[in-house]
Amino acid sequence: MANTLRGRFAPSPSGRMHLGNLLCCLLSWLSVRCRGGQVVLRIEDLDTARCPARYADALMEDLLWLGLSWDEGPGIGGPHGPYFQSQRTALYEAALETLKDQTYPCFCTRGELRSASAPHGREAVYPGTCRNLTAAEAALRSKTRRPSLRLRVPDRDIRFTDLHFGPYRENLARSCGDFVLRRSDGLFAYQLAVVVDDAAMGITEVVRGADLLSSTPRQLYLYELLGLDPPRFRHIPLVLAPDGRRLSKRDGDLAMDVLRTRYSPEEIVGQLACLAGLRPDAEPIAAADLMEDFDWKKVPRQNLRLTAGVLGYEPS
Ligand code: GLU
Repeated sequence: MANTLRGRFAPSPSGRMHLGNLLCCLLSWLSVRCRGGQVVLRIEDLDTARCPARYADALMEDLLWLGLSWDEGPGIGGPHGPYFQSQRTALYEAALETLKDQTYPCFCTRGELRSASAPHGREAVYPGTCRNLTAAEAALRSKTRRPSLRLRVPDRDIRFTDLHFGPYRENLARSCGDFVLRRSDGLFAYQLAVVVDDAAMGITEVVRGADLLSSTPRQLYLYELLGLDPPRFRHIPLVLAPDGRRLSKRDGDLAMDVLRTRYSPEEIVGQLACLAGLRPDAEPIAAADLMEDFDWKKVPRQNLRLTAGVLGYEPS
């Protein structure tokens, strides 16, 4: 029987990749490749203003430089293209059409939503302001403002078992409320696009950062409504700077443009493998040489803090 295991890289090219992005790609690649599965590369460039083409090109070049190749995607093609989300909007439109009985236009501005939410630091729960507008009210408001489109969510737990973190559940009505599928500027939301694409591309295993764990119930609800089979999910710990901060392109954390001038691919992969618990030391190693004894059990659940001095991280 053909091996149907399919994983993916789904980077957003809004800048050069940092070590957290690299670790995610390395682990997704190892997880699938060491079991003979296939890797798909999909460029998540929905927000084209934030994702100039030069970053997508650099990202692909960086992955290949690190020894992380893909079986389907830009440059290679394949039966599930196009592999740029910015070219797949007809599919997202079609999904919205399927969901039209569960969606409604929302005219709230960001400012209004901010002032209605409690200052608890978490993402605000949408209070349902526009949930019960009549068609006449919505038509009237559409004359002066373009609405976003929200999905009605149920007041019940959505459960799944994460391959790394174990059982997880969330009641969407309490955790986020009705969520946006298309923004008022017309851009499709990540939650919708990622579900449509992972399903259309036959992805069976999603490996991604633990910051997306709480997005998974929203995505599972979309799979349910669209009648699609979800993949299995494995969320991985985040990479933190020596001072405990999350890495970000904006904070000037070392990104591939700088890393490539200072280190070889094997040095970077060796450091990442050690950080993720795959090897006891940070000796340089090629990505392909990690396949033989790759084992998810070695990867911890807690976030991974870089040690000062490693790959240019200075003590702060
Ligand atoms: N495009 C997202 C990112 O780069 C990842 C989405 C996903 O893996 O589901 O953060």
